[in-house]
Amino acid sequence: MLYINPKHCIDCYACVPECPVDAIFHEEDVPKEWQRFIRLNAEKAESCPPVREETA
Ligand code: SF4
Repeated sequence: MLYINPKHCIDCYACVPECPVDAIFHEEDVPKEWQRFIRLNAEKAESCPPVREETA
């Protein structure tokens, strides 16, 4: 699972259409039933190491 650090995101939306399972939303577009993940994402993004290389 990956997390997007909201402090570093510039809201370019480039990642949204790239997700194969439509799991990425702009914060303002997150469906109501998944809103709790906004905070979880922000918390986890602070503690997980950044992804710097593409993996196969
Ligand atoms: S690609 Fe996604 S996570 Fe990266 S800056 Fe753009 S909107 Fe934010």
